Amino acid sequence: MKSVVLVEAKKPLVIEEREIPTAEAGEEIIKVIACGVCHSDIHVADGHFGGPLPLVLGHEVVGEHPELGRVLVYAPWGCRKPDCRQCNAGLEMICANSHEAGVVDDGGYSEYMRVPSRDYLIPIGDLDPATTAPLACGGLTAFRAVKRTLPHLNVPNAKALIIGAGGLGQFAVQFMKKLANVELTVLDMADDKLDAATELGADHAVKELPAGVKYDAIIDFVGAKPTLEAAAGAVNRQGILVVVGLAGGRLEFGVGVIPSEAVLTTSIWGSLDELKELLEFVRTQGVNHLVETIPLDEAQEALDRLRRGEIRGRVVLTVA
Ligand code: NAD
Ligand code: ZN
Repeated sequence: MKSVVLVEAKKPLVIEEREIPTAEAGEEIIKVIACGVCHSDIHVADGHFGGPLPLVLGHEVVGEHPELGRVLVYAPWGCRKPDCRQCNAGLEMICANSHEAGVVDDGGYSEYMRVPSRDYLIPIGDLDPATTAPLACGGLTAFRAVKRTLPHLNVPNAKALIIGAGGLGQFAVQFMKKLANVELTVLDMADDKLDAATELGADHAVKELPAGVKYDAIIDFVGAKPTLEAAAGAVNRQGILVVVGLAGGRLEFGVGVIPSEAVLTTSIWGSLDELKELLEFVRTQGVNHLVETIPLDEAQEALDRLRRGEIRGRVVLTVA
């Protein structure tokens, strides 16, 4: 089978011919149909985090299973040990010994992929593989982050801010407008992303925050020092700032330093139950995500274009 492999950090991906994996007890092998390209793949390719190399990237996978048919893969696999508090609570994405597909274990930039349990395979029925694949991370991460802001938006004239309207941010715009009665501002530095945010329902799309406006909920999908500082300065008292982006920024924290009783939190991917809930949400409410497809062989080109900001929504690798 053909696999696109990260052999060395910061070096181009290599197309390799490999043996099709065989399943050990409990495991499943799927034939990959589509695999989304997430900005986290760039962080892994740059060596910022992830498991030992060589590694097959890709954690937004739709594949074909011989009995289940077309499936979406839940990728943040936990240790599932009996004494793991997070796994027992169904929060495998926060497990200290997680082994996520495409980050620690081999993922979906490949013709076939090994999945450690059938539990992680969710049948998608007649949903389109290419538009469904990005739900596994981009959609799920945005869904969880937005849901965590909702208790703070149950106030008169609620205002929310989304920073970064790329793959994840564009999902979040839609979820926020569908799940809350809120005036939504989106901040990005790219015109095409701001246009997309407006098309998807944002009330305001800006390159700079208006002076003096406070937001009851902010989600930062960039996470760089300047965006974190802008967010911490704009969050309302008792509001919430959720950081999702992995750009590595830091914030000062303390009483009198951040607005009184504002909640500052990170948000990590999502649970298996949340992914099932999201699929149901997509089936009933519809999600208008912009997806561009490109063949698996051109995975490096897809990463390069995402890095240069040339992908308007999500780019998805398709496997013939
Ligand atoms: P993307 O490349 O599709 O989008 C990033 C967006 O941020 C772009 O629209 C870009 O123009 C904008 N941007 C970049 N710098 C900016 C700045 N200084 N000010 C305003 N806008 C800026 O990326 P994505 O796939 O949506 O991922 C977003 C981030 O979320 C990445 O860091 C990714 O690794 C991270 N991520 C985190 C989790 C998690 O579980 N916490 C899960 C998935 C992805
Ligand atoms: Zn991702």
